[in-house]
Formats: sequence, structure tokens, C-alpha cells
Amino acid sequence: APAFNYGEALQKSIAFYEAQQSGEIPDFNRVGWRGDSGLNDGKDVGLDLTGGWYDAGDHVKFGLPMAFSATMLAWGGVEEKAAYTSSGQLTHLKNNLRFVNDYFINAHPAPNVLYGQVGNGADDHKWWGPAEVMPMARPAYKIDASCPGSDLAGQTAAAMASSSLVFADSDPAYAAKLVTHAKQLYAFADQYRGKYSDCITDAKSYYNSWSGYQDELVWGAVWLYKATGDAAYLAKAESYYDNLSTEPQTSTRSYRWTLSWDDSSYGAYALLAQLTGKQRYVDDTNRWLDWWTVGVNGQRVRYSPGGQAVLDSWGSLRYAANTAFVALQYADWLSGDSERKSRYHDFAVRQINYALGDNPRKSSYVVGFGANPPTKPHHRTAHGSWTDQLNSPADSRHTLYGALVGGPSAPDDSYTDDRSNYVNNEVATDYNAAFTGALARLYGEYGGSPLADFPRAEQPDGPEISVQASVNATGPGFTEIKAYLVNKSAWPARALTHASLRYYFTLEPGVTPDQISHSTNYNQCGTVSGPTRAAEYGDGVYYVTVDCSNTTIAPAGQSAYRKEVQFRISSSGAWDPSNDWSYPTSATTPGTTPVDAPRIVLMEGTEKQWGSTP
Ligand code: BGC
Ligand code: CA
Repeated sequence: APAFNYGEALQKSIAFYEAQQSGEIPDFNRVGWRGDSGLNDGKDVGLDLTGGWYDAGDHVKFGLPMAFSATMLAWGGVEEKAAYTSSGQLTHLKNNLRFVNDYFINAHPAPNVLYGQVGNGADDHKWWGPAEVMPMARPAYKIDASCPGSDLAGQTAAAMASSSLVFADSDPAYAAKLVTHAKQLYAFADQYRGKYSDCITDAKSYYNSWSGYQDELVWGAVWLYKATGDAAYLAKAESYYDNLSTEPQTSTRSYRWTLSWDDSSYGAYALLAQLTGKQRYVDDTNRWLDWWTVGVNGQRVRYSPGGQAVLDSWGSLRYAANTAFVALQYADWLSGDSERKSRYHDFAVRQINYALGDNPRKSSYVVGFGANPPTKPHHRTAHGSWTDQLNSPADSRHTLYGALVGGPSAPDDSYTDDRSNYVNNEVATDYNAAFTGALARLYGEYGGSPLADFPRAEQPDGPEISVQASVNATGPGFTEIKAYLVNKSAWPARALTHASLRYYFTLEPGVTPDQISHSTNYNQCGTVSGPTRAAEYGDGVYYVTVDCSNTTIAPAGQSAYRKEVQFRISSSGAWDPSNDWSYPTSATTPGTTPVDAPRIVLMEGTEKQWGSTP
């Protein structure tokens, strides 16, 4: 039997992208706790920029890592098509690739215009709640000929070109459309040079273009060559290769880092080796992968005692997974160097297995997979706080299946499952991308079986929307109720914008409706109206309505999730509250804290959300 169930890991890893969806949730989405969100994205610039992926545990749509993630997923799809097919995951891969490419198409409204970010980093990050009820404005940012970004445009070209290869046989028209956008984006990247983060300056604090754009100019050309077969792209990739970075004070191509959202050079080494067989690319790939395995000139990546290759403190498992994926692809191609072939293959298996649970903690680093996995990833929507608080509630309300967390930040195999630690415990679209491809590759070699009943629907942890009430004051002719309208919804989170309460009571014999009056004391809602006769529930049954449609009640913060109203119903005739259907019998002592009031009805428009009628 394989060391791990790679089929199940693959299945979950690709499903993670469905938890990251922005915009209208498509029918294929399997994450029951996600709903539509970000539906106004792009309106500030007159475009539809809905869709795409939330980057990580936040809700910004950062274009550079999104494009890189799509490229890596597509690369896995191209090379591991057989494994994707036999595991039943090809449909899911295509669904998710189409979803993100549809966004790229919308984000590219003219040849030399590309929207590269929606959402402001600071405004987004300071709020902690579910995507479906985000309160902040989400500005759109672009690059164009007057302020270009060859890295962003080049990587997006790579994403669309590589994705076109996944769709080429099943949907040639869509593939051709992707190629058209990819060609235009590459021409834009090539003709108008610049770093995107000098134009989309908000990205500087999050996804600054550290490595510049030379790598994406090579990389975009490589993928366009693969997608079109046009030799001009290969020639361009080879000529721009000379511009790639080198180790300080040498002419040796950089090797002490790896493929990531910022730097595609290492992917270009391996693909150009595969495409041309030329020694320089082979040497550059070998040197880089040797540094990750046996070392070069006595130096190598740091290793933990438990066997993790740790490049950097932030998201260490992702760098190891990225390297592992390319190591597998390159090793599969390598011939005549059996030593390196097995070295790189074995390195990759070791790193992926480490993430799946073969480590000193004997614990998985993939949410919802394997032994003792993380349960508190740094992820706003999966946590499901209704009070805009990272630590409340203590447990995450949803299982973010398939998400690879950052992992140990030092080569010491240590880690704590702490939601506040975004260095160790955030998840991201770029973390899972090459990882997914590597899992497909290992499934192909070792097998495993995806779960038949994945995912199982979650059950809400209690009432999502409720009314709590107590008697606030009482007298011979009146009842005053203190009521809270409470929205802790998370399956999915949703706002109440047309809420109202219905308080049912019975008129005493001889009392007429015109003897009933009402007023409010403290009131975060609107007007009280009625009484309205409810003859269907019996003679003498009436209700008053407290309208709350003047405000939004959403699980979006301490004052947003709950609205309070104190309303008084008075009678100029007889009044006996004890036979009133909605009378909050569990909290009748004036001034007590409101408790669940199962007989006060909460409506959203005409739909009952809570409470039973008489
Ligand atoms: C966000 C993370 C982000 C971190 C650093 C946090 O507030 O939740 O998504 O990685 O800030 O920018
Ligand atoms: Ca770059």
C-alpha cells in the first residue's frame, strides 16, 4: 500500500480552490458553506471583475499569485493528465481552471490593459469575517501601457497558455480563446516593460515583484511555445534566458532559491531543458536541484532533523512542494543520469510525504486529511467569526479540506496550530498549486483512492439566525419586550436586509384591536406596526410587527451581527400576558438577559428564519 492515500490527498487539494471562489458560486462548487460574495467587484471601473480566487486567508484577489497558481495547476494537468483522469479528478481540475481563466478573460478587457488586483490589502486585512458579508469597498487596480507590469502580464499569459493545453482536446474553442488572450498579454508584457508592483503599488506590501520581470518574460514565452508550437516563442525564451538572475558576482544562474509566485526562472530552467535538451538548461536545473538535495560546493538548503527542506520561514512547505513538483517532472524526463533521476524523484516523494504526515510530529499539514491535521488555519471564511474577531469562536466552524498550511518556519520540525500565526498557519492558492500537481504525479505512481462520499455536508453548530428576548418591563396594561435579532450564519454567511419580528398575543375577551397601542424604547430597528389579525391561529390571535429593514444584520462584527429593539404593547382594556404565544416565558423577570425566544418569529422579507407560530 502507498505511504499515504494520494488519491484522497489529490481530491482534497484540488477541492480547496472551490473554497477560494469569489463572485457567484458556480453549480460545481462542493463547499456547502460558501456563498456568493464580492458581487460588486469591478463596478468602480465599469467592468465585471467578479469571480477569480481569494488569495489566501484573506479576500484580496491578487493577480500575480493567482496567475502563478493557475499556471502550476495547469502544468500538473498537462503532465499528469492520465492520473487526473484515472482518479476522477480531471473534471474538478478543469472546473477550477475554467473558473479562474474566466476571471482572467474579464480582467483583460483590452490588449494592453490587465486588472491585477481587486481589494485593498490594508482594508481587507483589518477585518476578520466571512467573504459573503465583507463590508469594505474593494477597489480594482490595473496595469496598462502607461504603467505596465511585464511580470503580471507575463505570468497571466503563462496561465492562459498552459490552461489552453488542458482544454485543447475537450473544448478547442475555449482553448483558442485562452491562447488569443495569452498572445496579447505576452505582447503587452514584452513591449511595455515594468514591474507591476510599481503601478499597482498596493501590492508592494503583499506581493512585491522582488525578482522583477525577466523570469516571466522567459516563462510566458515557454508556455506560449508549448501552447502554439510557434518557434518564435521558443527563440524568444532562449534569448531572454540570458537576462535571468545570477548568483552574486558570478555568471552562474541563480540556484539558491526556488520556483514561486515571484520567480519563475527555476521552472524555465527545467522546461527549457525538456524542450531543447541543451546542456546549459540541464546544468542550471541540476545545480538548482542539487542544492536542494546533495548540496553544491558544500552548501545546500537547510534541512530539519525530520527531513524537511526549509528554504524560508514563511510558507516553508509550499517552497518544498513547488520544488518537489518540478523535481518530479524533470526526473521523469531525465535520461542517462540515473543517479540524479532517482535523487530528484526521491527528494520529491520525501517532501510531499513530510507534508502528508511523515514527520516527527506524525501529523498532516493538510487540513482535513490524514493524522492530526491543522484545524485552525488562518482563514477568515473557514473560521466563521461573526464578531470580527480572530479568536472568537475558539474553534473554526468549517473544515477547509485540502489546504496546505505554511508549516514550520525553521528547520526544527516545530509547529503549532495557531490561527493567529499567518507565517506557519495560513493557507494560499499558491501553496496548493504545485502541491496538487505533485500529488497527481504520486497518485499515478503509487495509487490510492479518492473518497466516494467527499465532501460530506457540514451541519450548522446551532441556530444560524435567531431571536433572543426577555421581559424588559411589565405592568397591569402592558408588556415591554427586549429582543435581539441575531445573525451568526455561516452555511453560508448571509446578511439580513429585510428583517422583521412578529410578536403573537391573544386579546382578552371584550378587548378590541383599537385598544392596543405600541411604542419603542431603545430601538436599532424601525417602526412597530399592527396589531394584525392572525385568525388562522385562532380567534383573538394578533401580532405586532417590528420592522428591521432599515438596517443590515450580518455576521460581520460585534455591532453588525445583532440588533436590539425594546418595544411595548399596551392595552387600554384588559391585558394578560401569560396567555400570549410569544411571551418569553424563560426570561420574565424584568431586566434579565435575553435568551432564545422560540416563539418570536423572525422573518427576512416573507421567509421565516426563526420561531414558531401559534
Ligand atoms: C492577513 C494575511 C496576510 C497577513 C500579512 C493578515 O492580516 O490575514 O492574509 O498574509 O496579514 O500580510
Ligand atoms: Ca518575477
